[in-house]
Amino acid sequence: MPDAPKPPLPILQLVGVRKTFNDFVAVDRIDLDVLEGEFLTIVGPSGSGKTTLLRMLAGMDSPTEGNITLRGQRINDLPANKRPTCLVFQSLALFPHKTVGENIEFPLKVRGVDAATRRKRAKELIAAVRLPESYYSKSVTKCSGGERQRVAIARALAYDPEVLFFDEPLSAIDYKLKKILEKELKDIHRETGKTFIYITHSLEEAMVMSDRIGVMRAGRLVQVGTPEQIYSAPVDRFVSEFVGEVNVIEVARRGDGWTGVDVPGAFRVNPPAGADADIASAFVVIRPEFMRFLTPGQTADNAIQGQIYNEYSLGSRIQYQVRVGEKVMLVELSRANALPPGAGSTVTLGWDARDAISVRA
Ligand code: ATP
Repeated sequence: MPDAPKPPLPILQLVGVRKTFNDFVAVDRIDLDVLEGEFLTIVGPSGSGKTTLLRMLAGMDSPTEGNITLRGQRINDLPANKRPTCLVFQSLALFPHKTVGENIEFPLKVRGVDAATRRKRAKELIAAVRLPESYYSKSVTKCSGGERQRVAIARALAYDPEVLFFDEPLSAIDYKLKKILEKELKDIHRETGKTFIYITHSLEEAMVMSDRIGVMRAGRLVQVGTPEQIYSAPVDRFVSEFVGEVNVIEVARRGDGWTGVDVPGAFRVNPPAGADADIASAFVVIRPEFMRFLTPGQTADNAIQGQIYNEYSLGSRIQYQVRVGEKVMLVELSRANALPPGAGSTVTLGWDARDAISVRA
């Protein structure tokens, strides 16, 4: 029998990594294995510790406690220029008075690579980041923001690092170009086979590019998983709400069933799995696209009455804001299924238990 494919090995390992500034804990007891060749994105709100974590991984700062190892070697205090890693960040740090080619060749030049080899490699990298070959002799000041971003990635690749770090590289780029660059970066990752560690506060960006996403909150890494796991099986309310617009209702166990705490009614709820299976209260998370309006005669596992008070076009979809008591619930329908004009504002919202996620309260 052929050998089963070997799982990728961790290239970077973090064990109990903590960083404090005086009494302030910026990063708290992080355990994480970064697998060789993966695209791992760290997301989290502003101030959650993403940059602090990245600075420790890139060698710009040392942990206060814990260990970071690269292929088994402890690198806690190894300076950035001694690590086989490279950082690409938003402010780019390209040499403005040099050409694209000179910028990309810089890492090779400092290593003493001869001119002909440098030129050949720079041209390969210009192609790898999808710039025209003629850009080799173009001044970087004449490049657009998106093009400069590609030059920065090409220059980082010229160092031939084992791990590339990206610190919000796309945050200053307009939406349409950003969408293009996200996909290109994913392709570049696949083609180079390098390990990419990317930080952003945009979950949308993370979902498109990453093999795995780590979600940070107040210095802790609260969940690490594939984009699908983060979206479909968030570990708590914070992660579920970070992952996009959601409806959250609180429920409490009453005998064999569940009743609403913040909305009236009895609900069919699939309780959280595993250790949380017998909890007494939970948050039920229902994404707006899993909510529907019930017409007379239609049924769903759960139904509640509400009043529509706002309607927004999201392009291909319509979002409705529906007041249910003190709460506002969101329903998203495809344009083809939008409510007909004059349908009235009193509606019955319905969803099925299998389409909702329960998380511990
Ligand atoms: P953002 O998305 O806004 O960049 P972040 O998730 O990257 O945020 P960090 O920059 O890592 O967050 O900061 C985490 C916390 O640590 C913040 O409260 C910040 O004020 C604090 N912090 C970061 N660096 C220092 C420092 N050198 N001295 C004191 N506090 C710091």
